[in-house]
Amino acid sequence: MKELAFASIKILSEKLARKECSVQELRDFFYNRFERYDTKLGSALELFDKNSVMPQKNQGTLFGIPGLIKDNICQKGRALTCASRILEGFTAPYDATAITRLKNQGALLIGRANMDEFAMGSSTETSAFKKTVNPWNAACVPGGSSGGSAAAVAAGLVPWALGSETGGSVRQPAALCGIVGIKPTYGLVSRYGLVAYCSSFDQIGVVTRTVSDNALILSVMAGRDAMDSTTVHHDIATDYTVRLEKNIKKNLKIGVIDNAFNIEGMGKSSRSLFENSLKEFEKLGAEIVHLSLPTMDYGAAVYFMLSRAEAASNLARFDGVRYGFRASDIHDLTDLYFKTRGEGFGQEVKRRIFIGNYVLSAGHADQYYQSAKKVQAIMRAEFVEAFKKVDLLYAPTSPAPAFKFGAFADNHLEMDLQDYFTAPANIVGVPAISVPCGFVNNMPLGFQLIGPDFSEHLLYQVAHAYEQATPWHTMHPRGFEE
Ligand code: GLN
Repeated sequence: MKELAFASIKILSEKLARKECSVQELRDFFYNRFERYDTKLGSALELFDKNSVMPQKNQGTLFGIPGLIKDNICQKGRALTCASRILEGFTAPYDATAITRLKNQGALLIGRANMDEFAMGSSTETSAFKKTVNPWNAACVPGGSSGGSAAAVAAGLVPWALGSETGGSVRQPAALCGIVGIKPTYGLVSRYGLVAYCSSFDQIGVVTRTVSDNALILSVMAGRDAMDSTTVHHDIATDYTVRLEKNIKKNLKIGVIDNAFNIEGMGKSSRSLFENSLKEFEKLGAEIVHLSLPTMDYGAAVYFMLSRAEAASNLARFDGVRYGFRASDIHDLTDLYFKTRGEGFGQEVKRRIFIGNYVLSAGHADQYYQSAKKVQAIMRAEFVEAFKKVDLLYAPTSPAPAFKFGAFADNHLEMDLQDYFTAPANIVGVPAISVPCGFVNNMPLGFQLIGPDFSEHLLYQVAHAYEQATPWHTMHPRGFEE
């Protein structure tokens, strides 16, 4: 059982196939790692009773491979909280489509990952239940909102995990924890069973330590689902693990979004890591083109408006009647709503519901919501235009490595600037992958490649070639030894 903690899914599968270890042994190995390390890391809200975790099928591409699921994705018969008190006591009545597909391939879903409450945040600090620390430095946040998922994978507690993206919640924690994270094209993965935050942006995403592992998990989940009418309508080939090679395709053009580098808060060392990664791409034979996407500068504002608006509508269903928590000492219906929502939601969630209702309110909807929708259309057009000139776009995933806990406590609007880099892909609907590109003061940093609709295969190919040419995926945080 040596060197399993940071092994790839492929290696773990081979060990199982060669009967070098049994499914139970592999499962117990990772459970032991959680027992040993998760008290300090805080990545999981729950690990399921071991005996209830066995593969549903005796075969499949993920047979016996343990993974952790963000706590806003339904697993039948398991608790689901979105890290919010308002869902305490709620049990998911069905499996999300993504979960069904993973189980059908034999995956072992061992628990629920911590997250920002209802996926609202960039640091996992808004979880109502626990703190998750960054495995590289416990004084720093793991990023968010899928911080539990990213921390667990980076620390070798599990080889893969699911997160969800609305404005960067997979890519940003992946970057801050030094691992790979993808946000697929809107509609590639079913949202059936993913708790809605901002439905027109929400997508399930994947975090792993290598690009090929990431491709494997996404391949299992991707594709049309009758339960989600926004999923792809045409058949698409979804085995993203094929043709991942050391080279990239000839004449690949990567467009560097120059205006994304004029951002306050990007230090010299971060900048030079990004520059080095571009040199690496040149060595691989890519042509680097510089361009600017002026609408990107409006992304964080558009995201702010639209995400709050949809959140206000989506979260109206948590009223103390249908789900989870209900306040006590209730006298009438209004009292029920006020007390349940007052006690059940955390501050950040309340703030977003207030703002969402405001930007949708009569007299203000035109000014805020409608304007944001118009800018969204202009952004989409600008990105589509850019993809006529280049194959992929390049930008930092985050301007700096992980920040300290409480860094934005007095100014949560500043925290929203984290979304500047990531939210555009969600607004426009295109896929993007974050890949580790080195360290600043021993803390990891990542860049992202953004591609046109359904270009996941190309993203994986290019990311894989970069990964193979660099040492970053072989480096793991200290203190999580086997
Ligand atoms: N940081 C963003 C936010 O606070 C991202 C959220 C997400 O993608 N779920 O809303």
